[in-house]
Amino acid sequence: MSQTLINMIYLLCALCFIGGIKMLISPVTARRGNLLSAIGMFIAVVVTLFDANVVDIRWIIAGIAAGTAIGIPAGLYVAMTSMPEMVGLLNGSGGIASLLVGWASYNANHNISAEEAITVFLSVVIGGITFSGSVVAWGKLKGVKWIPEKPWLFKGQNIVNSLMLILTIVLGVIYCVEPASFSSEIILMTLVVLSLLLGVFAVLPIGGADMPVVISLLNSYSGIAACMAGFVINNNLLIVTGALVGASGIILTMVMCKAMNRPITNVLFSGFGSGDAVAGKDVGGEMRAITPEDAYYILEAASTVVIAPGYGLAVAQAQHAVKELGDILEKRGTEVKYVIHPVAGRMPGHMNVLLAEANVSYDMLVEPADINPTMSNVDVCIVIGANDTVNPSARDDKTCPMYGMPIIEADKAKVVFCLKRGKGKGFSGVENPLFFKDNTRMLFGDAKSTVSQIIAQFKEA
Ligand code: NAP
Repeated sequence: MSQTLINMIYLLCALCFIGGIKMLISPVTARRGNLLSAIGMFIAVVVTLFDANVVDIRWIIAGIAAGTAIGIPAGLYVAMTSMPEMVGLLNGSGGIASLLVGWASYNANHNISAEEAITVFLSVVIGGITFSGSVVAWGKLKGVKWIPEKPWLFKGQNIVNSLMLILTIVLGVIYCVEPASFSSEIILMTLVVLSLLLGVFAVLPIGGADMPVVISLLNSYSGIAACMAGFVINNNLLIVTGALVGASGIILTMVMCKAMNRPITNVLFSGFGSGDAVAGKDVGGEMRAITPEDAYYILEAASTVVIAPGYGLAVAQAQHAVKELGDILEKRGTEVKYVIHPVAGRMPGHMNVLLAEANVSYDMLVEPADINPTMSNVDVCIVIGANDTVNPSARDDKTCPMYGMPIIEADKAKVVFCLKRGKGKGFSGVENPLFFKDNTRMLFGDAKSTVSQIIAQFKEA
């Protein structure tokens, strides 16, 4: 197959990826977008089989077989809540692949130009950081015993990390200036070790709950590493795909940081969630509890209901019960909406995925900015396992660590039900004054159980 034809097909594959990403914008087209990208990837793999310049075809077939054997069961059986861990591992695989491509390319030919040496250096270093950082991120999310879930901090940590980074750059420059020198192998080996250490030391000081942001950032790194690997082996499609992953990963990282109102430097270096005292005003007053029966009487009379789900919905796996309650209310003529905060839960789109699993119609989902202006007309806002995303301190209290984070203004509804197990705080550790407001009623218990009890009341009536 001629190189021009291969490049033309690669271009077609790149268009599939771009179109696929574009379709991920809406839940309605997301599945088709995923399929389109997968078709693009399949064509890319098949075409690569015909490109004699890569490796022996038997190796490629063995790689496809091994990847399929691991990928299909992993994709089928992974729990939705474990998705960030899986993405972390996939990023790590991309990272180690780039490192190995860089290393193999170095071994194949020492006599390369400085420009080519730069791509080998970047492929090895970014690949190494992505691999070890992703493994630590995976361990934190998985709760692996020997990887601390909380931020692991020590004095002078940033200095140690900075020194390692400087040493990496200096060695990189030495290698690139004279890639064929007799010491280049030792330098490259040292760079591999340094990059692996950098990945570990960069991720250990970050708390488990910030891992989705880190994974998104590492996703971006794995894209850049793949892009570099594309330059190393002169593969145009790898360059384009790597650039796409690199760019989309960084955009998602920024979107998440913006939604939390925390700069990326705060996520990476502040040790957020290390257990240090959290600032913010003391919240006085008392919580008023109600029973599912009381909740039923109030809901029965409501004509507009807004449901605000959060991380607790995922913990309780209450999505099907919530959908059933929503359906019952709708059948009775109540207007029902679901408001989704961009960082509700523990991964981007967490709530959308759960509600989609329960077949909640997309047109019932609204964003906080759309519902907040009319929240005072809402009869009941049911907050299900959400805390930080409905915390009015983020809007009102300048001393609150979350101050400035856009919230769902549940407190403005005529009545607010807060469904949670007890008095546990949210991810940020900040006290929530919403639970103490006059118009708030606490419905304590596991969300699936309390929602089911309200449903039972409707069914009995
Ligand atoms: P949240 O602030 O973490 O609060 C979750 C609440 O759910 C807790 O207060 C807990 O209270 C309750 N809960 C837990 N299990 C429950 C159960 N089985 N039944 C009922 N309630 C239960 O949740 P959020 O409002 O969704 O906020 C998400 C937080 O994660 C934000 O601070 C966000 O910045 C952060 N974050 C999100 C992402 C992302 O991509 N989505 C990434 C990184 C960080 P009890 O213990 O009293 O039950």
